[in-house]
Amino acid sequence: RIVYLNGSYVPETEATVSIFDRGFVMGDAVYEVTTVLGGRLIDFDGHMTRLKRSLGELRMAMPLAEAEILAAHRRLVEENGITDGMIYLQISRGNAGDRDFVFPPADTPATVVMYGWDKPGLADNPAAREGLRIITMPDLRWARRDIKTVQLLYPSLAKMEAKAQGKDDAWFVEEGTVTEGTSNNAYIVAGGRIITRPTSHDILHGITRASLLRYAREAQITIEERPFTVDEAQQADEAFITSASQFVMPVVEIDGVPVGAGRPGPVTQRLREIYLEESRKAAI
Ligand code: PMP
Repeated sequence: RIVYLNGSYVPETEATVSIFDRGFVMGDAVYEVTTVLGGRLIDFDGHMTRLKRSLGELRMAMPLAEAEILAAHRRLVEENGITDGMIYLQISRGNAGDRDFVFPPADTPATVVMYGWDKPGLADNPAAREGLRIITMPDLRWARRDIKTVQLLYPSLAKMEAKAQGKDDAWFVEEGTVTEGTSNNAYIVAGGRIITRPTSHDILHGITRASLLRYAREAQITIEERPFTVDEAQQADEAFITSASQFVMPVVEIDGVPVGAGRPGPVTQRLREIYLEESRKAAI
């Protein structure tokens, strides 16, 4: 596979990063993951807007122009023959020399990495017909979940806990309400309305979330942006998650309790269709 490292396109075996890199030593890096469908990029502009915001919040400069990032994504798609798959982008504060909590000088070059992988049949994931079974766990992440950093240890532990219990994923709960999933935003459907937590520092501002809510409004579906409890979710008609790689994915069980009929519901299925159709149309 050919990957991108600091302006060069190289075989992955030649793409190496310093042991002094702040991303490695301190988790001092941000990332984005963009979906490729039919060789085209889904919601690319949204991912770039969020990337610039994440960098800004961590006082990092954008190390290359958005047009260059787009060109690199396209080149990785082409050179690696990706039809359906993902492109990962990570920007760290770079090689800072000996370990220090103080940031390196502002002119220290960032480390920029991009690589892609194939996910054949991504839009036709059989899990969308089955739905996910999830557990809930306390949200023990830091309080700036709106910044997309590579500090993913707790979500990773939560995912492992779900797997250990024979389930698919976990939702996080804080002060009695659901924040979001390990790597996705959380929703319920009640009385035909979509209920989802408003954006704040508590959750990642999902790009799929923003697009889906826009498409849903255009389709005259009512959206209530407010926190909801686990109890409310267990009693909802439907539940689902969104993320770049999963699009809209039904949730059919929460902590052992079936949601609605225990099968993917009609509103969720319709939203999945709307999202896939509209985001493919808007792909670049
Ligand atoms: N929340 C968290 C914690 C995530 O890691 C992700 C996926 N990166 C999302 C939500 C969904 O965001 P997006 O729709 O932009 O993939």
